[in-house]
Amino acid sequence: MNKLTYLSYHTQGHPLFVQYCLLSTSSSSLVQGFFRGQKGVLQRHLVLDIMEFRTMILSHFLVISLALNAGLLYRDYCNGRHKAQDVFSFNNDCKNSSLVTKRDAHVAKSKRAFLETKTQSSSPSPNSLGDIIDLDHGDPTMYERYWQQMGDKTTVVIPGWKFISYFSDVRSLCWFLEPEFANAVIRLHKLVGNAVTEDRYIVVGTGSTQLFQAVLYAVSQPNASEPISVVSAAPFYSSYPLITEFLKSGLYKWAGDAHKFNKDKPYIELVTSPNNPDGLSREAVVKQDQGILIHDLAYYWPQYTSISSSPADHDIMLFTVSKSTGHAGSRLGWALVKDQEIAKKMTEFIVLSTIGVSKESQLRAAKILQVLSDSHEHRGSVKEVEAFFDHSYNLMARRWKQLRDAVKRSKLFSLPEFPHSKCAFSGRTFASQPAFAWLKCEGETEDCESFLRNHKILTRSGKHFGESPKYVRISVLPRDEVFDQFTQRLSSITSS
Ligand code: PMP
Repeated sequence: MNKLTYLSYHTQGHPLFVQYCLLSTSSSSLVQGFFRGQKGVLQRHLVLDIMEFRTMILSHFLVISLALNAGLLYRDYCNGRHKAQDVFSFNNDCKNSSLVTKRDAHVAKSKRAFLETKTQSSSPSPNSLGDIIDLDHGDPTMYERYWQQMGDKTTVVIPGWKFISYFSDVRSLCWFLEPEFANAVIRLHKLVGNAVTEDRYIVVGTGSTQLFQAVLYAVSQPNASEPISVVSAAPFYSSYPLITEFLKSGLYKWAGDAHKFNKDKPYIELVTSPNNPDGLSREAVVKQDQGILIHDLAYYWPQYTSISSSPADHDIMLFTVSKSTGHAGSRLGWALVKDQEIAKKMTEFIVLSTIGVSKESQLRAAKILQVLSDSHEHRGSVKEVEAFFDHSYNLMARRWKQLRDAVKRSKLFSLPEFPHSKCAFSGRTFASQPAFAWLKCEGETEDCESFLRNHKILTRSGKHFGESPKYVRISVLPRDEVFDQFTQRLSSITSS
C-alpha cells in the first residue's frame, strides 16, 4: 500500500491502524504519539509502512479469531456451560433451549407469563401484572417516572451525518471519550462531592462491567509466573467471579472471599461501597502491601447513602449511569484513575474489545447528567422540576419504610440495620437505603430463594454472593406497582 492509502487510514481513523498500534508492545504510547504527533509522525510513518503488511495479516487474524471465539462462547452459553445467565437471567434466544439450565427455564417461563399477562391488559393495574414478581436483577426502572416527568428536557436529537468517526478527542488519553460527557461527569462529582476528579484520567466504558474487565487487564502483569488473585469480601457482587472467570484468562483468577485471602503474593481487591448485595459501606479488608485496590462506587450516590465530607480519593474508582441516574440501557460507565499507565492500558483494553464506546450513549448520558445537575443548581427557579436526588432519596426512603413494615408484619424475615450519618451533600442525617435488600429467612428455612419462589417472588440466593442460602438479594429498584405488589405479598407470608 502506498503512503497515500496509509495516510487515509490515519485521517479516517481506520480500525486496522488502530489495531496495529495496540498489538505493538508500546501500543498506547504509539496511539497517543501518533494522534498527538507533529514532528515525530514522519519517522513513525516509515516504521509503520514497513510493518503494514504484517498489520493487515494480524488484524485479519484478530478479526477471524474474535469471530471464532464469539461463536464458541455463544455455543457454550447455549449449552449452559457459562453461568452468564446468573448475571442476568434474561430469556435468551439460543436455539437449543433443552440445554438451558432448569433455573433459567423456570425464570424464562415466569417472564413469558409476566409479559403475556401484561400485553393482554391495556391498562395494567397492580393486580393484573401476573403472579410472578421478579426482583432477581437490579433493573432500575424505578427511575422511569422521574425522567418521564422531565419531558423533552433530556431529549437528544442526533442527525445521521454526525458523530460518524471512531474518534472523539484525539488529544485525550482516552480518545473515544466525548468531551461533553467528561465535562458532565466532572460537574456532577463536584456538585455531589462524592469523588475527587482533579488530576484524574477519565476512562469511559460500555457499562462499568467493561471497565472492571479493563482494570483487571490493566493492572495484571503479563509476564507473571501465575495469574494474579482477584478477591472481594463476602458477600460480594455475584458478577465479579463470573466476569473474572468466563474467559479463563491467564492474567488473573478469581480467589473468592477477601477475608480468607492469606497468600503473601500480589492480589487485586474489589471494594464495593456501598456494597452490592448488603448495602454496607466498606473498606479494603486484606491487610497486605502487595494489593491493588479497585473501588466500585456504583452506589455511592445520595439517594442510597450519606456522602462523606471528604470526596472519595482512591486510585481507581468505578461509576455507572445504571445506578446513579437509572439509565442501565445506555450501557455507560466511567472510571476515575490516578495512574496514567493504568488509564492507558484500560483504554487499550476497550479499543481491543470494542474500539471505543458508543457516542450516542455518551451524548445521551451527558444530557441526562447535565439536566440532573441543573435540577439541583437551578432548584426553585422552575417550579415543576424536582431536584433529582431529592426525588430519588424520597422514593428510596418510602420504599425502605414499606419494606421494613412488611418484614415486621411477616415475622419470618430480617433485614440489615444501618447506622445514621450526616450527608455532606444534602445535610440530612439518615440510615442507608440501598438499591438491594439483603433479606434473611429466619428460623428453619435454609433455602430462602426457593422459599420465596414458592410464593412466586424471584430473588437471587446468597450462595451466588459467597454467602449462606439463608439470604437472598432483592432489588428495591423496580417500578412502583411491582414494588407495592411485592411488599404486600411479603407481609402476607406468615408461615414457613
Ligand atoms: N458494579 C456493581 C456493584 C453493580 O451492582 C453493577 C450493576 N449491577 C455494576 C457494577 C455494573 O454496572 P453496569 O450496568 O454499568 O455494567
